Amino acid sequence: MIFEKPGESLRQAELAVPRPGPGQLLIRVHACGVCRTDLHVIDGELTKPKLPLIPGHEIVGSVVELGESDSRFKIGDRVGVPWLGWTCGQCSYCTNNRENLCDRASFTGYTLDGGYAEYTVADQRFCFPIPDVYSDAAAAPLLCAGLIGYRSLVKAGDGKRLGLYGFGAAAHIVAQVAKYQRREVYAFTRPGDNQAQRFALDLGAVWAGGSHEFPPLKLDAAIIFAPAGDLVPQALRAVGKGGIVVCGGIHMSEIPAFPYSILWEERSLCSVANLTRQDGLDLMALAPKVPIRTEIETFRLEEANDALNRLRAGKIRGAAVLVTGDTGA
Ligand SMILES: [Zn+2]
Ligand SMILES: [Zn+2]
Repeated sequence: MIFEKPGESLRQAELAVPRPGPGQLLIRVHACGVCRTDLHVIDGELTKPKLPLIPGHEIVGSVVELGESDSRFKIGDRVGVPWLGWTCGQCSYCTNNRENLCDRASFTGYTLDGGYAEYTVADQRFCFPIPDVYSDAAAAPLLCAGLIGYRSLVKAGDGKRLGLYGFGAAAHIVAQVAKYQRREVYAFTRPGDNQAQRFALDLGAVWAGGSHEFPPLKLDAAIIFAPAGDLVPQALRAVGKGGIVVCGGIHMSEIPAFPYSILWEERSLCSVANLTRQDGLDLMALAPKVPIRTEIETFRLEEANDALNRLRAGKIRGAAVLVTGDTGA
């Protein structure tokens, strides 16, 4: 499924199977998650995609061919391919354990072709083994919603009362990890979205309400997954002194001006960008312990436009996942 121009639907096409270069794996894709970032690319809010582009950066598949040079994987291994597709290894970020900020990084499904396809190639150094307990489709959302969610949770610190704004793919995973860590989750959804609020309570949230509401107690931290800038002052008002607000998305509408008093008293505001390979290893080790259970809606690969439209409309419970062939679901 190919992206050619912002605002247009993806186009179904038959392409040659890509060839793995040195250090790359050729992967038969079994499942690929549909992430909000894909919408930001397709809607033209992220402005530097490779064109034409095969989107998708939550890929689960099996290795069918190895490029030249050593590999951690062998033919038949199941691997996950995340958003971070390549880094330079030399810049000041790469050499200081912050490869997520690499100046020259390449990103799967954005500057590299991704997983809305039957085959893809990926640099083996950036792929992860997937825990056996997960089916292909159930594992897919861990590769970005899970990873970015987990990185956001770490950034949010150790506070007990955690707010999650936007209860979709990332939040439904973070809520499970937070509960495992004995925190209290407060879920904020689109006003009136009773289904999402019930979903959050089912997953162990202690409170759920609309994003315009305030929780009964001040929060220690809040993570904003919804791409709505007006949630930033809202979340700052919901956290107590010393509270932390983390913006977990790659794009957000403009943040309205707000009075200094809601940042005062050592509240902090930050964003989370991309992931490191260590984040991936950490989450894959943690996921079966929690155990994280992903809630997914599966679509056939050729139904990618339908999945994207339903995500844009807020109609996906948990995460949308594209599946190819007979495996996956
Ligand atoms: Zn670098
Ligand atoms: Zn993503």
